[in-house]
Amino acid sequence: MAASVYVCPDCDGYEIQNRKTLLLGSGNVGAKMALLLSGRTSDLTYINHEKQPIDEEKHRLMHRSGIRYIEQAVLEIVEENDGYIKAARLEDGSLLAAERGFIAFGNNHVRSELAAQLGVELHHNKHVQVDPRSKMTNVENVWAAGDLGVHAEQVTAAMGDGAIAAIWIHKALSSQ
Ligand SMILES: Cc1cc2nc3c(=O)[nH]c(=O)nc-3n(C[C@H](O)[C@H](O)[C@H](O)COP(=O)(O)OP(=O)(O)OC[C@H]3O[C@@H](n4cnc5c(N)ncnc54)[C@H](O)[C@@H]3O)c2cc1C
Repeated sequence: MAASVYVCPDCDGYEIQNRKTLLLGSGNVGAKMALLLSGRTSDLTYINHEKQPIDEEKHRLMHRSGIRYIEQAVLEIVEENDGYIKAARLEDGSLLAAERGFIAFGNNHVRSELAAQLGVELHHNKHVQVDPRSKMTNVENVWAAGDLGVHAEQVTAAMGDGAIAAIWIHKALSSQ
């Protein structure tokens, strides 16, 4: 994948600021991302690669936000020599020029199976619930930190969680 195709709107959203951008995605997940990214650029095309259905309301909002919508499979990402996206080749043979790309297909796997086996309470999206102060789960002496928790997926947040969990783990060990 080209160096200028991104996945995280919070981390990389600024990369598409006022740039001609193609969003490769699927159904409502892609539509949600398109609406989020439309604040960054007025030149945004959402390609629903898997042709999954999209809610009427999202179609309406995309139209209102000036997002172009295409329902076709992407056959190839054409790159510049420096690895930057130059265009996407679609199944009908057409070539869509781009300066930046984003992807949004959803279905990221949350690896909370071990936590679930231990009886840890999971959020509806399979992320692990923790006490906000200590990062301990509902199971005594089981802590969770980072992307496994219920928060935006950011390195700084993961590190902060880890540091706080470590303090409370140390407290628990010291009191035994
Ligand atoms: C493409 C991409 C770009 C990103 N860009 C940014 C960015 O620019 N800025 C930013 O702040 N964040 C970014 N993020 C998010 C950031 O990477 C995460 O928030 C961060 O890595 C979370 O750290 P973590 O330790 O919680 O999880 P991870 O880094 O995912 O580490 C979890 C580790 O646990 C291991 N593991 C999982 N299950 C088990 C098991 N059962 N037994 C043993 N080991 C297991 C995994 O293999 C992995 O090594 C990006 C993420 C992606 C995917």
